[in-house]
Amino acid sequence: MNVPATVAFSGLLPLVVEEVVDEGEWVSVQARSPGGPAECPGCGAESARVHGYHQRTVTDVPLDGRPVVVRVRVRRLVCATVNCRSTFREQVPGVLERYQRRTARLTGQVRSVVRELLDCSRRLGLSLNTVKRYARVPEPNRLRRPPQYRACLVDAYRDHLRARRAAEPGVPVLRLFAEITELGYTGGLNLLYKYINQGRLDGDRITPSPRRVTRWLLTRPANLLDGLRAHLDELSAACPEMTALAERVREFAQLMTERRGSDIDRWIKQVREAGLVELEPFLTGLDQDHDAVIAGLTLPYSSGPTEGVWGSPKAG
Ligand SMILES: [Zn+2]
Repeated sequence: MNVPATVAFSGLLPLVVEEVVDEGEWVSVQARSPGGPAECPGCGAESARVHGYHQRTVTDVPLDGRPVVVRVRVRRLVCATVNCRSTFREQVPGVLERYQRRTARLTGQVRSVVRELLDCSRRLGLSLNTVKRYARVPEPNRLRRPPQYRACLVDAYRDHLRARRAAEPGVPVLRLFAEITELGYTGGLNLLYKYINQGRLDGDRITPSPRRVTRWLLTRPANLLDGLRAHLDELSAACPEMTALAERVREFAQLMTERRGSDIDRWIKQVREAGLVELEPFLTGLDQDHDAVIAGLTLPYSSGPTEGVWGSPKAG
């Protein structure tokens, strides 16, 4: 292993790492809790009296692309309070979470990837909506132009705001305000309210130019996924379900770019069979507009500035 154990596993603090063994396909870490008193969940008194030990096995973030399995010796303590005498397992907050088989930081990484994927699928959904709109309009150029807004201090934080609202739809505007202020936003709260009320965060209300649409459709999904790929590859080693999730999303990007609308049903079936609940909201959207989606993904653009962008049509 190239990385010194103290550096590689510093994220496991305050656990004490006792041994790191290179097992070839994976890395095993033996660790223990740091000792010291812990709070009795029964009466709240602190106790350091050891009643026994037990071992928890959790998966940590991969190292050199290999899964890391951490075995932690955790104490069972006994409360010293006369009327309590409870025995309880000590917790290691921030590292081990109750009932989790992953370390807190691995759980965090998985969640962030799922969020990115969801955001990605929302963008794909947005693209599909746009395709459907174009499929209904004989000449894309006749689409109503979007309202023109002047550039605004909020613009620079639009992506952040959209991602946040996508991940947490009920997020209060005040919190968003605090977040973008932290990021450098110098405008006021009223401006942010106005921006949101004008629907400027909801990209779907704005009718983009055909050129922008084709760019979304043809490059955006793939690009988004490229950005995720390294992260996913790394995590796939630790979490098998990530492999399936990554694979399905890649396939979807392919369906999009190769206009294989007729393959959508097979794809939906695979996602459902794999039990990828994270993608369910996206599937529901596809179900609702099923025929239009297929038509949109199969329909060649024949006029306007989009001509030729698709490249040579593939059979299917
Ligand atoms: Zn107690």
